[in-house]
Amino acid sequence: MPLTPEATQEAYRRITAWRVDPMQSVKCPTCEADGLVIIDRSARPYAEWYALSCAACGLDETLNVPMSAPHHGLD
Ligand SMILES: [Zn+2]
Repeated sequence: MPLTPEATQEAYRRITAWRVDPMQSVKCPTCEADGLVIIDRSARPYAEWYALSCAACGLDETLNVPMSAPHHGLD
């Protein structure tokens, strides 16, 4: 089942939060069940890859986070 654009956005948000605090439980972006599994498969320094899986709804997605993202407006 492919992620909707909205669920993909939500997944990126949750990955970002998870990276700040990897011990926290993450909710699935599609079914909101606790216990989303996130596996860091990054090939630094080129790209970050996160494999997401959810036992509750069968989600199984790998999301790419480009590392060349601009950092405008941080100062
Ligand atoms: Zn789910």
